[in-house]
Amino acid sequence: MSRSAGRHFLQIPGPSAVPDRILRAIAGQVIDHRGPSFADVGTRALEGMKTIFKTEAGRVFIYPASGTGAWEAALVNTMSEGDRVLMYETGHFATLWMKMARRLGLRPEFIEGDWRGGADADRIADALRAHTERTIKAVCVVHNETSTGSVSPKAEVRAAIDAAGHPALLMVDTISGLASIDFRFDEWGVDVAVSGSQKGLMLPPGISFNAVSDKAMAASRGAGLRRSYWDWADMAGPNDSGYFPYTPATNMLYGLNEAIAMLHEEGLENVFARHQRHGAATRAAVRAWGLEVLCRRQGQESGVLTAVVVPEGHSADAFRATALEHYDISLGNGLGKVSDRVFRIGHLGDFNDLMLIGTLSGVEMALGLAGVPHAKGGFDAALEVLGQPLRQPTAAE
Ligand code: PLP
Repeated sequence: MSRSAGRHFLQIPGPSAVPDRILRAIAGQVIDHRGPSFADVGTRALEGMKTIFKTEAGRVFIYPASGTGAWEAALVNTMSEGDRVLMYETGHFATLWMKMARRLGLRPEFIEGDWRGGADADRIADALRAHTERTIKAVCVVHNETSTGSVSPKAEVRAAIDAAGHPALLMVDTISGLASIDFRFDEWGVDVAVSGSQKGLMLPPGISFNAVSDKAMAASRGAGLRRSYWDWADMAGPNDSGYFPYTPATNMLYGLNEAIAMLHEEGLENVFARHQRHGAATRAAVRAWGLEVLCRRQGQESGVLTAVVVPEGHSADAFRATALEHYDISLGNGLGKVSDRVFRIGHLGDFNDLMLIGTLSGVEMALGLAGVPHAKGGFDAALEVLGQPLRQPTAAE
């Protein structure tokens, strides 16, 4: 392959490009993970992640695994063979989590969705009420469905569980939501949150997280599913003094501590506002092109990515290949049911206005080269949105 000059545009919805500051932190020398210097690294990471999940009461576990591992940890630590879990089909990732639950011996009830919006809290409330024997042990929702670009309303889901007076745990996959879209573990009464390093946290792939409430910790003591590597109980003891029961991903923890510092320097609320703005500018471009945004529920569109439906008779994958070949930009592919029907523009992580403008110009030029019918002017529509100033940091931050 010949060399492409300049930076590649990695505009998939995670992994997101890693800032130089984090790359430098990761490049630090490995230290003894059982030695005295490590305690500070581990404690900063574990305590720092509590501020990102917005929890004081809960605790955080860090696994050297991708997000899928943390999904499994959430289930095997809290559930027993044959337990019922209520899950919501927001898209491909919700479907994969449901299949995992099934493989682990659980009985998921899957509320069917159309992949065009987040979870509907009323349907969750109805499903909980319909189960008069109240055997559902957990309600599991995906915060930001990365396959569709839709956000589920967490506070409403919590309210639906409470209104039904149901004791189920609330589990939330915020693998692509955390550190990009507001997430409030304590305030929303989340019991287990699952996240990963490679999206809003701006790290390479490789570590993942569970944030866990007291209620979920208590449930784990009676949970019968077999577990060893994922066991929260094995983690909790060493974690209390900043250590891990096995070899941690030391250099990723250096990077994580840098990422946490960077997120607080910018201010979490500003990070969220920046993502919202980039989502709005991208959707303005898509609509001006005359193309369709996959998420059609107003207010649930993602600030992390935008999934764009290509017109009938055109291939989203062929378009992406053109974009990569001519403009050195990687766009996300359509997954599962929307394979080859959509492409996804990632606008997450360490990302600013001019990078978005470059991204949208690349998309607009590639639409032309690939022969995908569209109107010109998407780029100008995005500029209208980006012409508005970003919110300034609040005193609290
Ligand atoms: N859940 C969501 C919402 C995701 O976006 C992803 C990955 O993109 C996963 C789960 C799976 O995570 P991983 O690929 O890190 O195992």
